[in-house]
Amino acid sequence: MSLKTRLLSLVAVLMITASLASWLAYRELSEDIIERWGQQVAEIQVRYDSARLLQSLEREIGLARQMADSSTLVKWATAPEDEALGREAIREMESFRSNFRDNSYFVALRDSRRYYYNNADNEFENNQLRYQLNPDKPEDAWFFQLIEEGRNFHLNVNPDAELGVTKLWIDVLMRDENDRIVGMVGTGLDLDSFLQDIVDIDQDGITTLFVDYNGAIQLYRDQNYIDFASIIKPEGQKSTVDLLFDHTEDKQKVLGMLQILKNRGGATGAVESSFVTVDGRKHLAGVAFLPAIGWFEITLLDLETLLPGSYLWPLVAVFLTSLIVTLILFHLIIRSRILKPIISLESAVEKVRGGSFTLPHLDKPDNEIGRLASHFEKMTDTLAHSTRELERKVEQRTDELHRLARIDALTGLKNRRGLDEALDEEIQRAERQGTGFGLIWLDIDHFKAINDDLGHQAGDDILCRVALWLKAGVRPYDHAGRWGGDEFVVVLSPCDRDTLHQIASRIHETIERDSIRTGTPVTVSVGGYYCQPGDDVETILRQADKALYRVKQQGRNRVYIIDSQGSEINPA
Ligand code: GH3
Ligand code: MG
Repeated sequence: MSLKTRLLSLVAVLMITASLASWLAYRELSEDIIERWGQQVAEIQVRYDSARLLQSLEREIGLARQMADSSTLVKWATAPEDEALGREAIREMESFRSNFRDNSYFVALRDSRRYYYNNADNEFENNQLRYQLNPDKPEDAWFFQLIEEGRNFHLNVNPDAELGVTKLWIDVLMRDENDRIVGMVGTGLDLDSFLQDIVDIDQDGITTLFVDYNGAIQLYRDQNYIDFASIIKPEGQKSTVDLLFDHTEDKQKVLGMLQILKNRGGATGAVESSFVTVDGRKHLAGVAFLPAIGWFEITLLDLETLLPGSYLWPLVAVFLTSLIVTLILFHLIIRSRILKPIISLESAVEKVRGGSFTLPHLDKPDNEIGRLASHFEKMTDTLAHSTRELERKVEQRTDELHRLARIDALTGLKNRRGLDEALDEEIQRAERQGTGFGLIWLDIDHFKAINDDLGHQAGDDILCRVALWLKAGVRPYDHAGRWGGDEFVVVLSPCDRDTLHQIASRIHETIERDSIRTGTPVTVSVGGYYCQPGDDVETILRQADKALYRVKQQGRNRVYIIDSQGSEINPA
């Protein structure tokens, strides 16, 4: 895997890990915020809904209480047979009817068990006595139950089979001056319109319901759940609030909240809230006790509707976009600041390793890698310079060695190898140009004796001197060399036969003459051969050697030069 892929993968993994951690933290935090916010909203909503209910009932309850306190009605309740009083009572009732919002009322008398009622249509004008309450009839049980409980005020949702209406009844007990219960008065509010006005308000995600002191549902948008005539139902048969919840723990939670509020004794403004599941959706349930009517108000907030998860989508989109943008930016920065310079540096290193000092263009960002590339460039320059210097020195040294390999160490003349090369050159030139040239071979006479008499060092000195005289005796373009021991060879560049003889003789004479001056006179035997184009090395050397041998044979210290016919070349 390339460095680039690895870096990008590492960054992606790190970012995703960090993002997941932040996402989890965010979710935790946002849930906490939603919970706090939801609780506050629930409290506000509960108070608002409670206030709305109380506001709409307050006036009706007040009027019902006034009606229950009416001395005419109380008196009449104890003497229902008194017709004058009866008429007055009916008038009183009718005047209340016009004041009640529903324009209806009921009056139920304890002793006579008479039930009076009239409605907005004044349907029962002059016929307000509707029926006789019967303790044995289940539908009349509410009356006897309330009297028995002695609760001065009660709200009751009840269908009245006789009247054919379902209403929210406001029941207030009538008591005489001795505080004896003499009857019950009140009014009813049409359940449908009341539910519509107060409970089934068109607020998305907010459900309001009212339950009585025992948790039985009294007002709820779905009338199937309403526990009609709760007062007369035994515990266990009531349609209680816990029916709305799917989970047992939610049922217990809500009933628990009711209990807490009961224990507080209806402290005003107290609200309890908790998360519950309704119809598979998470809700926040807020509960308040309404001491004025002895009911609880429950508000269910559907958090998914009020604060949908889709609200967070822009956040997720921003997050994902920033993740991608960050990755792209990171990639671009890493590529231009690190990867490209490293790749160009790597190819430069490859080139230098392969022996080339011509570097490609190196990216040099303003960072460690850029500085590394600069150092590498300078290092390569230095390396190229010293390599060139080294090569130059090696070449020089090789030339020198080459030269030394062709030089005789003692005399500084060419050695045998140098002479061989010079001879080859001359043979080729002779062939090329069709000219002749000469070769002189000379040997010091009785040199062994000099060595023996004067010592080896003196012998060496003589060899050196002979070399000097030899060099002085030839032309600059001739090649003088030491063949070995006390033998010297001179290859004369193109020359004619006479010149060959002249030079050979000159050398012979110079050595003899000049050596005398040094105090150690020496003579040399000189053999020579005049070479023709087409002569090879062996022929030339053999002929010259033959000539020298002849001189030695004939007593030494003279010049003898032959041509290719073997005839002696004499001085002109
Ligand atoms: P001839 O006249 O027949 O040439 O007699 P010669 O004594 O010169 O005999 P030869 O040429 O055969 O002997 C050459 C001698 O040169 C033998 C050897 O000891 C001596 N010699 C060879 N190389 C060197 C050298 O480098 N230095 C010295 N001092 N002597 C050398
Ligand atoms: Mg000799």
